[in-house]
Amino acid sequence: MTILRRPAFRIALAVAAFLCVATAGAAAAGGEAGANLLKVRLGGDSHQTRVVIELDKTASGRLLSAESPTRHVVVALPHVDIAGEMAGQGDGLVKSWAVDETAGAARIRLELRSDAVVARRFLLPPGDGLNVYRYVVDVTSSGKAAPAIAGVAPEKAALVSDAPLPLPPISKKVIVIDAGHGGKDSGALGSDTKEKDDTLAAAHALRDRLERSGHYQVVLTRDTDAFIPLATRVQIARRANADLFISLHADSIGIQGDATRGASVYTLSERGADRTAKGVFGHSDWFMNVALPGEDSATKRILLDLTQRQNVNRSSTFAELLLDRISGATALLRRSHRDANLMVLLAPDVPSVLLEMGFITNPEDERAMADPDHRAKVMDAVGDAIDVYFTQEARYAMR
Ligand SMILES: [Zn+2]
Repeated sequence: MTILRRPAFRIALAVAAFLCVATAGAAAAGGEAGANLLKVRLGGDSHQTRVVIELDKTASGRLLSAESPTRHVVVALPHVDIAGEMAGQGDGLVKSWAVDETAGAARIRLELRSDAVVARRFLLPPGDGLNVYRYVVDVTSSGKAAPAIAGVAPEKAALVSDAPLPLPPISKKVIVIDAGHGGKDSGALGSDTKEKDDTLAAAHALRDRLERSGHYQVVLTRDTDAFIPLATRVQIARRANADLFISLHADSIGIQGDATRGASVYTLSERGADRTAKGVFGHSDWFMNVALPGEDSATKRILLDLTQRQNVNRSSTFAELLLDRISGATALLRRSHRDANLMVLLAPDVPSVLLEMGFITNPEDERAMADPDHRAKVMDAVGDAIDVYFTQEARYAMR
């Protein structure tokens, strides 16, 4: 983070206030008309098939069928209307599909050609030249790794939004690592070092740790000392279909040589405005630009989708694991599990945390963050936390 600038703070507070209004509005609007299901499209092959359900408004879904391999997948979309029963031929793994309406929910039934599992489900807001919401269901044949896609770098493939193919190899968890700041934006300054360099070096160390395991597909929001607008980072996170988003930063208290030190972790929160404001205080640089990407109506809709309790829980679960693991590798700030509501803007469907690796204004922390051995130790610990998180993930199965 950087030292607070007054205009940034004012805007951030306005956003925080808006968030509260929007949340209250959503609660009050509970009885209003739901979304309409417009269209169902499919694409894929016998290993992985993507089903895209187009909607005119946002919706959330629930998996009604088994999470174990099955031939019948059923997903309910509560408060979604259909014009009449719909059905069609399948593609790839899906033999046929049908949609009916039961108890105010649209129910999508997929008949599969062989046993398969729902690998992931997520909602994409309007974008990519489409003005509709898309609820995406990925079905993958059980126990088989998805083949790599020839000629397409995994990073590129991950950025494809809802196109039937190419897909990222969905057997691997997709981790988006966001190295804070970059290019003309140095972030906070130490006596000898800059936040942007610490975050990029840490992102590379974490990427190496994760790729060595063979379990992850890593997407970096930046790979060089480049200025990447925060809105672009948000888009990358949302389009990568990430299973986890981790943003790396270095803290600053604005006074060189200050004794305040230690790592801390931010997650999103459903709690009130005061908490939000505190989060904004800590991260004015980061939040403000995320919150104001110049797409007001889209931002508002996203805001309404944000407080998904499950995503909050998942992020908190990961944050606790992360704190537990890094506590053995580096000093922690005393109250280290902080909440920051606006962070959800990053990726409403992706568990997201922000790790402040230490205070660049503290000599010990500054030295540690610039030290490759210390960095590797901390990022190994972050990798361990990610391993544990996904080992436990079955318990937090997506709804
Ligand atoms: Zn920062």
